[in-house]
Amino acid sequence: MTTEILALKAFDDNYIWVLRSAGQAAVVDPGDATPVLDYLQRSGDRLCAVLATHHHGDHIGGAAEVLARHPAPFYGPAAEDIEGITHPLSGGERITLPEIGVTFEVLAVPGHTRGHLAYYGPSLGATGAVFCGDTLFGAGCGRLFEGTPAQMQASLAKLAVLPAPTFVYCAHEYTQANLRFAIAVEPANAAVQRRIEDVAAARIADQATVPTQIGVELETNPFLRWDAPAVQAAAATRLGHAPADAVEAFAAIREWKNRF
Ligand code: ZN
Ligand code: FE
Repeated sequence: MTTEILALKAFDDNYIWVLRSAGQAAVVDPGDATPVLDYLQRSGDRLCAVLATHHHGDHIGGAAEVLARHPAPFYGPAAEDIEGITHPLSGGERITLPEIGVTFEVLAVPGHTRGHLAYYGPSLGATGAVFCGDTLFGAGCGRLFEGTPAQMQASLAKLAVLPAPTFVYCAHEYTQANLRFAIAVEPANAAVQRRIEDVAAARIADQATVPTQIGVELETNPFLRWDAPAVQAAAATRLGHAPADAVEAFAAIREWKNRF
């Protein structure tokens, strides 16, 4: 069964992801009901599941209205206060959506929020796919609203070890702004320089810059590159001393980005 993945745009820069196969569809992070209801009407697909990565309104704000009109199982973080969840998850579970032929491994990725989840489908598409909400972005990562730098660094490390070709479906179109920071962290990183050009061309053509891939992020995302000498050096400049470990390096870069 091949599963198609589509983006629905919401608000200024959110993506609501639709996974569909054979007239059935699951949606990830329906922050706004309207694009989802329009999609279901237009396509005639039957809703088979709603998945939430975390409790922020731009990710779950439309869930209640969608589910009132199209009842379906609602998967989401057990540790967060989200109305209507039927299948609370904490990470480590495996969930199967037989209607669309998808099995996800649920990853706990706290940091942006306390109970943030990522949904990893190892056999989705040719190379696997992960739906990671506001944890990993194109060339960036989410802000630490509820978690510590150590939690977020560990969460990002879990995503970093997924196979390099894995497609990363994050929830926001932030890549271009994030790359302005990435090049400030690593001015001599040729992969970042190339990506800035590629992303500029995509945005001029009004194309999405996501999904991205784990391998691309490993080369260009300063929040996965705590081991790179240039990132270590940038962290040392911010801290006034060499970072003691990956967490301190990550924390210094994240702190810099907050004020960039
Ligand atoms: Zn968020
Ligand atoms: Fe968000």
